[in-house]
Amino acid sequence: MKSFKFAAVALMTMAALSAQAAADGVYRGQAMGHNDIVVVDVTVKGDKIADVKIVKSLETPAVSELPKKVIPEMIVENQSVKIDRISGATFSSFAIVGAVRDALAKAGLDLAKFQQGPSHKYLFTVPAQSKADVVIVGGGGAGVSAAVSAARSGARVILIEKMSFLGGNTVLAGGALNASDPALEGLQKMSAGQRAMVDGLLAEEPRNELHRALIASCKAKWDAHIAKTPDVLFDCEELHALQTWKAGDYAANLELVDKLSKLAPNTVKQLASMGFDWNDFSSQYVGAIWPRSHDAKYFTSGQGYIDTYRATIEKEKLPVTIYYQTKAQSLIMKDGRAVGVEAIGPDGKPVKVEATKGVVLAAGGFGANVEMRMKYDTQWDGKLNKNIGTTNSPAITGDGIVMAEKAGAKLIDMGYIQLLPVTDPQNGTVSGVCQGTAIYVNTDGRRFVNEMDRRDVLSRAALAQKGGVFYRMCTVQNSRVKPDGMTTMGQSIDTLIKAGKVVRGDTVEDLAKKTGIDAAILRDTFAKFNDFCRKQTVDPEFGRPSCAPNIPMYEGPFYAELRTPSVHHTMGGVAIDTDTRVIGADGKVIPGLYAAGEVTGGIHGTNRVGGNAISDCLSFGYVAGANAAAMK
Ligand code: ADP
Repeated sequence: MKSFKFAAVALMTMAALSAQAAADGVYRGQAMGHNDIVVVDVTVKGDKIADVKIVKSLETPAVSELPKKVIPEMIVENQSVKIDRISGATFSSFAIVGAVRDALAKAGLDLAKFQQGPSHKYLFTVPAQSKADVVIVGGGGAGVSAAVSAARSGARVILIEKMSFLGGNTVLAGGALNASDPALEGLQKMSAGQRAMVDGLLAEEPRNELHRALIASCKAKWDAHIAKTPDVLFDCEELHALQTWKAGDYAANLELVDKLSKLAPNTVKQLASMGFDWNDFSSQYVGAIWPRSHDAKYFTSGQGYIDTYRATIEKEKLPVTIYYQTKAQSLIMKDGRAVGVEAIGPDGKPVKVEATKGVVLAAGGFGANVEMRMKYDTQWDGKLNKNIGTTNSPAITGDGIVMAEKAGAKLIDMGYIQLLPVTDPQNGTVSGVCQGTAIYVNTDGRRFVNEMDRRDVLSRAALAQKGGVFYRMCTVQNSRVKPDGMTTMGQSIDTLIKAGKVVRGDTVEDLAKKTGIDAAILRDTFAKFNDFCRKQTVDPEFGRPSCAPNIPMYEGPFYAELRTPSVHHTMGGVAIDTDTRVIGADGKVIPGLYAAGEVTGGIHGTNRVGGNAISDCLSFGYVAGANAAAMK
């Protein structure tokens, strides 16, 4: 009996001790985020959370910036791990909270103590009523570009953003910007296949006067180039326009295409003048048709564009106010003119913003809206249901298109929806380690398409393979993994391999074994591809026009990554003219209303050229901002 009593007291003391007392100190915890493990150091003092420091996070910068800043503060301030996710940053938010919980458990603290009471939510404060010269809906590439240009033109700007951060799809994409740049592209050689492509375009029967003029002007430049430097890669604005229009089956408004190709080189220069560092080479993104894709030297994905415009706003002290967590609902119209926006603020209450000069719609497309995809799609036979992934941010639900239509805007090309052929089959994201146009091999080990073809052609070909998947393969040397082991999308190669998303094989045989492909077939596939690369002719199997630098599979080690198509871009949207003025269903301009970026239609036709979306949203965004600011 005595001994039992003693034991019970001892147990109680131990329980009481473990319930309250953790040794003061720093405890490390971790949890899986969207891209990789998030690691935190939690300082515990007197059973309280004294500090939370994020030690490692490879989460997408734009998305994770706010959670990284505010969630640790909220945890310490409230002594609670009951923190609501920040919308659009679910994985990043949960990973930080999860890592803190892990650290607290390691410290031996009672987690229940830190989960009492209501959960805590981070809310921005937005006034119920306000006024600006220009109101912009959406803070992706088009929105921030428009904000800078409107403010530089002297306008006071309010930008309404549904999420807690800027960036939209612009920061989730690969980040390439197509612009003709003869000097930069002239560093590359031109293959026979590429020459034939230009000859083919110039021999086309003109479909209208502008087409005729573009062909004539391109031909004059081409003839001069061929006479002097026939082996050097050629480009000009007219070629960019001709290729874009053809790749969209001539369905786009050629005037808009022409304007895009003329604006794009200037957008490259303008960003450089804002401090953006470009790579000193151009490449050819998936479906880009020609190696005129420019991308950032230091930034991953499209993040650099958003950061650069944001830094410009700060540096030039531009009068731009951002209303985060504010969802635009409708346009305020007065006598047929757009004069403001009605929205729902962070606390769920109405927000009204008046625009004395103009409203710019920059709310993106509708790739993440399954209902709208199913309603409008005319290209994919009802396949764009919830079972297919999307590269899009969950915010991209066509709100701007719906608002514009209600205000009388004309919608065009709504049936044209693009699938990106090279996304992660598990989550539809744009990620990966091989270049876009690297060799595509089906699960039987055979090539099945010209990897430099249009995105719709690639996606159809991919969907026709077993399980709708294929491997994109490349050599380690020519991959997008940098010497520090990080990909150009900011992911760690070790994590990707551990997660089974990427396979590394030292030899063809090793790669075949790890992918379950017959080694003899894979060896034969590589041999044929390499033969074409060495000869630099037209690919005899699938008509690929050039091997492109760095694509051959001469020597291992190799990477292979399973890929599948996912919904990426919606080509249709609000009709605009070349000044980005929104056109009404009656064909007349709607005064005070401008639109730019993926919310618009008419620029890409049936199929968007890879790398043209960034050129489109940044270039037309700038035009829209300036024009809205100039409105009387
Ligand atoms: P674009 O490339 O055309 O700029 P993005 O997809 O990059 O398009 O950006 C669109 C932005 O618009 C995103 O940041 C998204 O969160 C925002 N957005 C979408 N719908 C609304 C809405 N109803 N109110 C405010 N912002 C919105």
